[in-house]
Amino acid sequence: MDLIIRNARLPAGAKDQPTVDIGIKAGRIAAIERSISAQAPAFDAKGCLACAGLVETHIHIDKSRIIDRCGPQPRKTYSPVTAVAPIKHTMTLEDTYRRAEKTLQQSILHGTTRMRAQTEVDPAIGMRGFDAVEQLAKDYKWAIDVQICVFPQEGLTNYPGTDELLVESLKRGAKVIGGAPRYDTDGAAQIERIFELGREYDCDIDIHLDVGPTPEGMYVHQVRELTEKYKRGGRVVVGHMAKLSLLPPAEVAKIAKQLADAGVGVTVLPATDLFLMGRDQDHNVRRGVADANLLCEHGVNCSLSSNNILNPATPFGDCSLIRMANLYANVVQLDRPEQIAACFDMLTERSAKLLNLNDYGLKVGNPGDVVIINAESPLQAISEVAQPLASFKNGRQTMRWAAPALLRP
Ligand SMILES: [Zn+2]
Repeated sequence: MDLIIRNARLPAGAKDQPTVDIGIKAGRIAAIERSISAQAPAFDAKGCLACAGLVETHIHIDKSRIIDRCGPQPRKTYSPVTAVAPIKHTMTLEDTYRRAEKTLQQSILHGTTRMRAQTEVDPAIGMRGFDAVEQLAKDYKWAIDVQICVFPQEGLTNYPGTDELLVESLKRGAKVIGGAPRYDTDGAAQIERIFELGREYDCDIDIHLDVGPTPEGMYVHQVRELTEKYKRGGRVVVGHMAKLSLLPPAEVAKIAKQLADAGVGVTVLPATDLFLMGRDQDHNVRRGVADANLLCEHGVNCSLSSNNILNPATPFGDCSLIRMANLYANVVQLDRPEQIAACFDMLTERSAKLLNLNDYGLKVGNPGDVVIINAESPLQAISEVAQPLASFKNGRQTMRWAAPALLRP
């Protein structure tokens, strides 16, 4: 044994169960037992919650930390894409690397061990964002696995030259193709093209979908049909789905069952939806956060993620997924302990399933990825915004926080 993480609590039945020891050998989990007798360097988790790391399923590190470059916009017509497009020339390779690196470091410091990075390409940014994220993924492999989802932020069928850059990214190894159909005049044509590329390059699909002030014209039905037509069940994710928050629960349940049957997952992005929705209202502003718990109850796999950090789509952010889940739980008014605890799954097990990370989880044989959180249970972690105290990647500690302590006189 190379390392033994002692006295850790597993998420299932955490508070009432005895703690366990997690033994790691050659970078992989070799044993999870009540008490490991082997002698090896030890880390004492002191009864804190352990998981295999938080999974950021949807984040734009390439355009994080640019809020100070963007000018003001009128409230009613506020658009993050309109704000970013004119400053893309300032986003050089070095600049993008430096900003994205800071965001990646913050994610690692908040317990994230796996990430899907939404990375945009178009003739204005060229391959600079992709190059930066690809290099960062290599440079930080010691702490985090970064998967690139390449996508057209400013339109695909409307923006000549973008398709070629998507193809180049896929040829260079992007594992996922994404989309943002509302930025094309013919959004359906963009979605069709994304699915074609998904089939041609055999990659997963992850599309920004159904954000807007009314529930009319939802693209999700087309996505579901194409998922079935192209037999991509389990490999398609839709992000945001703010329009679901505008529908009565019975109608959401109907769509949820269809998505569950088709194998389409949903990522809810509370911070961005709260910031951007309801811009046509100056009071009684709609929130636009889809109820992921309701979707899960009807069989959909869901995750909660950060999306944007310090940019015009979300001018806030510390890359804490636990804080994001707490924000979400407040907004959708969760009150049952099991509902709140379920949010922890939407940062861990469910998120890993959404990204098809088959080697994720605290199981013998999996990578020695372990994150220790300053809580005794998933419920406490989400309710109290508990801080991750230590992360291990492939059995090596990658970060630490000191647990706070009162210094009584
Ligand atoms: Zn996004």
